[in-house]
Amino acid sequence: SMFKVGFLADVYQERPVDSGGISKVVTRFPPEPNGFLHIGHSKAIAINFGFARYHGGDCYLRFDDTNPAGEKKEYDDSIEETVRWLGFTPKKITHSSDNFDRLYELAEVLIQKDGAYVCHCTKAEIVDQRGGGDGKKPRYACSHRNRPISESLTEFRAMRDGKYKPNEAALRMKQNLEDGNPQMWDLFAYRIPKKKDEEAEALAEEGEEDATEEPGNDSDQLPPHHYRTGDKWKIYPTYDFTHCLCDSFEGITHSLCTVEFELSRVSYDWLNEKLDVYRPMQREYGRLSMGGTVLSKRKIQKLVQDKYVRGWDDPRLYTLPALRRRGIPPGAILSFVNELGVTKATSNIEIKRFETSIRRYLEFTVPRLMLVLDPIKIIIDDLPDDHLEMVEMPFSKDPAYGVHSMPFTKTVYIERSDFREVDSPDYFRMAPGKPVGLLKVPYPVTATSFKKDPSSGKVTVVHARYEKPADGGPPKKPKSFIHWVSISPTHHSPITAEVRVINPLFKSDNPAAHPAGFLKDINPSSEEIFPNAMIEVGFREIRRRAPWPAEAGEKNDHESAGPETVRFQGMRMGYFCIDKESEGDKVVLNRIVSNLTAVGL
Ligand code: ATP
Ligand code: MG
Ligand code: MG
Repeated sequence: SMFKVGFLADVYQERPVDSGGISKVVTRFPPEPNGFLHIGHSKAIAINFGFARYHGGDCYLRFDDTNPAGEKKEYDDSIEETVRWLGFTPKKITHSSDNFDRLYELAEVLIQKDGAYVCHCTKAEIVDQRGGGDGKKPRYACSHRNRPISESLTEFRAMRDGKYKPNEAALRMKQNLEDGNPQMWDLFAYRIPKKKDEEAEALAEEGEEDATEEPGNDSDQLPPHHYRTGDKWKIYPTYDFTHCLCDSFEGITHSLCTVEFELSRVSYDWLNEKLDVYRPMQREYGRLSMGGTVLSKRKIQKLVQDKYVRGWDDPRLYTLPALRRRGIPPGAILSFVNELGVTKATSNIEIKRFETSIRRYLEFTVPRLMLVLDPIKIIIDDLPDDHLEMVEMPFSKDPAYGVHSMPFTKTVYIERSDFREVDSPDYFRMAPGKPVGLLKVPYPVTATSFKKDPSSGKVTVVHARYEKPADGGPPKKPKSFIHWVSISPTHHSPITAEVRVINPLFKSDNPAAHPAGFLKDINPSSEEIFPNAMIEVGFREIRRRAPWPAEAGEKNDHESAGPETVRFQGMRMGYFCIDKESEGDKVVLNRIVSNLTAVGL
């Protein structure tokens, strides 16, 4: 476990239970409800919930809802559902906004302690006071810094009461301009948001080319509506003011965050000390970043809007709802994160490595059966028309999964890529004159002739011979075995399905770096659709028993489990699950990940 050794063990040792009055570990996962969670967040969730669980403590889910412009109930709900899906139960669910009154009071206390002042400088003036754009000029205090406490108090109340517009006033902490750490240069504690500014700031952070601030029209100037506190507040506390205090209010013992907050540790401690409140300990771990995809909200938004993908949960994306819909079990995500371990360095992961980890997990968990993606019909001429033989298939290498039986008949379907019109000595699947095994069928079959559709040039039917020795002797062992499904109306075989095979959405490892923009890096065959796939009858049992096996965070009764919990290995082809677009008799499958040696794709 990643909690036993290294970084997290050290963090624990710095502040173990029974030291300094701590009776249990308390952590929090603090997402902002302004989007869906992505693969990177699974690391933050695993660390915060896992660390608490490992030490017998509690973890809270805290929505850090202090930027009303982009936040929504819909995201709040989705985030909670995702956390539970991963198998974690928050001890409490809290919101930074629960503390807005208390935070406001503490802001007044801070002013009274001469620890904050209302400032009316413009953005450009503040940049200059902080040493200019390159930080090389001397830093200096603005004229508001030394205004009387009573004046700041009056102005702060005026801000609260709506007497100022965005950018006309802000509350700044009176820290230490001499300190080398920019997080001590009189950070903002409260600001007056305008409708669009969070969005513009977010874009600026992401380094987007069009992150320019638009000249405000009147509606931009209205304070945004907060999804929980409505129009009660015209001023909102910043991350730097809110996070350390909410950690303190909740009695967080170990506040674990990503490395970009390392410099903030000083201001985090400064504020809690200044206000003389309980002091949690902040420590920083490295981010998880995925190559070959985009995680930024705005880029995914663009992909959704322009219909490059089917939605925020499109299986080609790396949001957690997308990975869920794709069929990746929660346990596979946690085991992947656990394999990476925790250090201060960023983990840059390639899609291939992620998929290897998922494949390894699925190999020993999900049941298997036979599925033909792109079928061609095989007629075994020397079997009688009504030939019916039941053959047994184990659901897994693990005997605990049991077996099912399948009809073997005169007409079967095999994978198009398992047939070649012309044989060659290095080829071991089906070709004219070459015996090949059908998995679990007692004797091999040999192709004798085939027909083609003259217009498409595609093989439409292959005729074959059943290699059952006339004397009933032992079967000749073929060089290889292929998967198949048979036609048997009495067994409702085969089951037809549309299968969506997922390939990387982008061509390069770093789509964001494409000189013409990330959309130019899109892989045109990121989704291959097989409309006529066929599945053998074992599928019905797998569907009936799903989730099989039940995963920690999944609803383990069949009625309420999601379609993605119907997972199986299609022998030789990869791992599949039911997509939510399935309806009634229409089965749509996603390929979760290929087999390492999937044929013909
Ligand atoms: P994004 O902009 O990608 O949504 P964020 O940092 O704004 O990321 P938050 O909702 O604030 O997202 O994140 C909640 C928690 O998850 C924070 O503690 C944050 O540090 C952590 N987190 C976010 N992205 C990653 C990542 N890629 N790797 C590890 N932890 C992450
Ligand atoms: Mg976020
Ligand atoms: Mg954030």
